[in-house]
Amino acid sequence: MSSAKKVALVTGITGQDGSYLAELLLEKGYEVHGVKRRASSFNTKRIDHLYQDLHEGHINFRLHYGDLTDSMNIIRIIQEVQPDEIYNLGAMSHVKVSFDSPEYVANVDGIGTLRILEAVRILGLEKKTRIYQASTSELYGGLPENKNEKGFYDENSPFYPRSPYGVAKIYGFWITKNYREAYNMFACNGVLFNHESPRRGETFVTRKITMATAAIALGKQDCLYLGNLNAQRDWGHAKDYVEAMWRILQQDKPEDYVLAMGVTTYVRDFVRLSFAEVGIELTFEGTEENEIAKVAKCNNPAYQLEIGKVVVRVDPKYYRPTEVDLLIGDPTKSKTKLGWEPKYDLQGLVQEMVAADIDLVKREKLLKESGYLVTNQFD
Ligand code: NDP
Ligand code: GDP
Repeated sequence: MSSAKKVALVTGITGQDGSYLAELLLEKGYEVHGVKRRASSFNTKRIDHLYQDLHEGHINFRLHYGDLTDSMNIIRIIQEVQPDEIYNLGAMSHVKVSFDSPEYVANVDGIGTLRILEAVRILGLEKKTRIYQASTSELYGGLPENKNEKGFYDENSPFYPRSPYGVAKIYGFWITKNYREAYNMFACNGVLFNHESPRRGETFVTRKITMATAAIALGKQDCLYLGNLNAQRDWGHAKDYVEAMWRILQQDKPEDYVLAMGVTTYVRDFVRLSFAEVGIELTFEGTEENEIAKVAKCNNPAYQLEIGKVVVRVDPKYYRPTEVDLLIGDPTKSKTKLGWEPKYDLQGLVQEMVAADIDLVKREKLLKESGYLVTNQFD
């Protein structure tokens, strides 16, 4: 590998953000190293297109086996890579699952951040290595009284996390800030509101909705079961957000930044928008735990859905023990200081996600019909 290039180390490179960030850094001429976990089956489908064979000589993309729960491994990788920039995106990132695995999430999302920071210090790289920490709007907890005078959460709003995930991430936030202040390290938090894409994990609400929209429209799924339709989120596109992560580490001074669109939308309205993409209009009826959505109109002759068919039902099993009701972020600082301008709006995001999932369902259907795909998923 060449030494003249800037070198970046990305934890969580196999995830949604890691994959987009790796693409961006490679485009910018970086040498990119990623940490991937050993799994019993392949977990690299989001980055397989970036793979380069070590045996073919000079490469600028390389993966290292590792885990944020393993200090020795983290120290060894950082020592070997000598990164100019570390993007710590690795995390158990699902809020609902964090209630099932609270100790694990504390270890990975909380102490994992400390392991990165301390490794840089142990190796004497404080002056060389800049660190980006993936913080989250879940830190705010959605308390209405904590919004600023304009009605948004910003860099000065108080935190009140409402899940083991949020609590673990608040440790990550503060330990990053503490290492910056204590040891003069270039360590920054990006406090990111929800961001999505066709690469979003299948159990997050947006992706669950766009996948179900495609499968229902193509007659491969009957009904979509969701939890709280009254939650509101500030959704952006992951591609836009990784661009800002990079910008945060290019500043003269290390600081924390909120990344958000400044618009909040009900989960119910995301469902509406998603089905509208395939020409299906929905009507919602019932309340809370009994709410359903029916087909009101089907404007696309390609999809044969009967009027009145129930396509969405609420299942309280998806409710969380404590919920974050509403998130909306104020991106003013990021826009003014970083010069960050997101390219996607919500409509563009939904369009891209639904189109990708229609493609995916069609491809899987074709493979299955021709006997090349053995799965029960669409039975
Ligand atoms: P994903 O869930 O898509 O990716 C998480 C990544 O972390 C995966 O590569 C995963 O590996 C890796 N990982 C999980 N556990 C460990 C571990 N013990 N050691 C090392 N790596 C691990 O998340 P996103 O890409 O969406 O998010 C990136 C970061 O940003 C996360 O920290 C998330 O909490 C945070 N964030 C995300 C937001 C969003 O809306 N997307 C909003 C705010 C913050 P594997 O593929 O093997 O599972
Ligand atoms: P989060 O904001 O990080 O928790 O992202 P999610 O996509 O997991 O959830 C966003 C919101 O959608 C939360 O308020 C959830 O309670 C709500 N929601 C409603 N139904 C579902 C569902 O079936 N799955 C998920 N993941 N969230 C749901």
